[in-house]
Amino acid sequence: MTETKLLRYENFINGEWRSPASGNYIKLINPSDGTELALIARGNQADIDHAVASARHALSADWGKKTATERGRILHRISEKVLENKELLAKLESMDTGKPLAQAHADVIALARYMEFYGAAADKVHGDTIPYQNGFTVLSIYEPHGVTAHIIPWNYPMQILGRSLGAALAMGNAAVVKPAEEACLTILEFARIAAECSLPSGALNIVTGLGNEAGAALAEHSGINHISFTGSVATGEKIQAAAAKHTVPVTLELGGKSPQIIFADADLDNALTFLVRAGIQNAGQTCSASSRILIERSIYEEVIKKMSELYRSLDVGPANADLALGPVVSHRQKAIIESYLDMAKRDGLRIVAQGKLVENAPDNGAYVLPTLIRDVPVNHPLTREEIFGPVQVALPFDTEEEAINLANDTSYGLVCGIWTRDGARQFRLAHAIQSGQVFINNYGAGGGIELPFGGVKRSGHGREKGFEALYGFATLKTISVYHG
Ligand code: NAD
Repeated sequence: MTETKLLRYENFINGEWRSPASGNYIKLINPSDGTELALIARGNQADIDHAVASARHALSADWGKKTATERGRILHRISEKVLENKELLAKLESMDTGKPLAQAHADVIALARYMEFYGAAADKVHGDTIPYQNGFTVLSIYEPHGVTAHIIPWNYPMQILGRSLGAALAMGNAAVVKPAEEACLTILEFARIAAECSLPSGALNIVTGLGNEAGAALAEHSGINHISFTGSVATGEKIQAAAAKHTVPVTLELGGKSPQIIFADADLDNALTFLVRAGIQNAGQTCSASSRILIERSIYEEVIKKMSELYRSLDVGPANADLALGPVVSHRQKAIIESYLDMAKRDGLRIVAQGKLVENAPDNGAYVLPTLIRDVPVNHPLTREEIFGPVQVALPFDTEEEAINLANDTSYGLVCGIWTRDGARQFRLAHAIQSGQVFINNYGAGGGIELPFGGVKRSGHGREKGFEALYGFATLKTISVYHG
């Protein structure tokens, strides 16, 4: 980080801070008040070429020579250093993304935990052995893909970096990261931290820039061996097409329109906070956000009333005020969300409750009021499309079968929450729901760190998090030895 009038960050390539080949920079804006926050490098094809070459070199140099145990130790050191930098990272993440400070603190802890988890797992991945049989010993071993590309969105820069980079480095890959142009300062600070922990040069390279420049150059690069992408479906499709040109495997995590189903026998008091929090956390800009609330008709009015009370108590304001909601990431994102709210009004939908903006909120902040809308038709865009803002729609259902059909009536399949005390129904639904994650009587943030996370249908494919992610960042080699 170079302290000038504005913070200015360069690309991080081969262990050094390098100015972008274009000489150009992108201005990051603090969404809480519209002020200029920092300059980041506008990387292009030349920077990506340099970063991929540096990663390739690292595989045959210092990094490639580390044992799995040594890689694990480095990740452990990084984990500790991340925690030592907790206040700085949380403050930067909060200013950059607009998320309330407490949520940013939780993200730092998650980043440190990913490094700890994958540090411990690094030397626990072993293949199979078929011992001596007819003169043969046969074994399978996991090897790193090589150079892995990580294309990261702006909603959880630290968490999404942590889950994919931790697993990739643990398996011995060398990484090129392209963070989002809206928010990426903590990812750049992470590069400094990793270097301080003696991560060998070239194991981690970061090129910032625009999606259609630096992002596309990375996805299409012939020197990469795997792509991990989190973001929109539209961009995910482009990434998969780019990867196909070089037959490169891809992990895609593309968001959702995740339902929570609440039956009349549920513990409503316990469910209520989850019902709302899952929709408004990080101002609704969460891939696993729950944006559809399906309610059994006999308790529909009661649930709507209680959710409305909670909505009216939600304060929106600057990220450093640590309220329920900060601003959304940008005025562009605010405009997308507000276009859905305008559509709701135009189509006569019933907005039942909204949160409120605090009095001293700066005029230029990208604030959106959390909004609960009831009785939205199943085919309305508000029920079908990912809004990526603090907007929840509520729909009634009469039977279990109807609840399942409604829950599955979406092109996505990321998360589903089920609220019922009936044990047999819990399992019936858990099996019937088309979703990567099912939460029963809770709505977690996506399975924690230790369990795999990912989607079905258009929510993507492949799994990140947990032990499973390690296999995604490796290729399997079978060795057959005849010694008969
Ligand atoms: P995006 O998917 O376009 O951007 C995500 C990342 O991909 C960024 O780093 C971006 O620079 C990069 N990128 C963009 N175009 C690229 C390309 N052609 N090749 C390679 N990389 C490219 O998302 P966005 O435009 O920032 O947001 C639009 C919508 O995406 C949001 O409204 C939301 O619905 C969705 N979104 C989902 C998630 C999620 O976690 N699932 C995260 C962010 C955004």
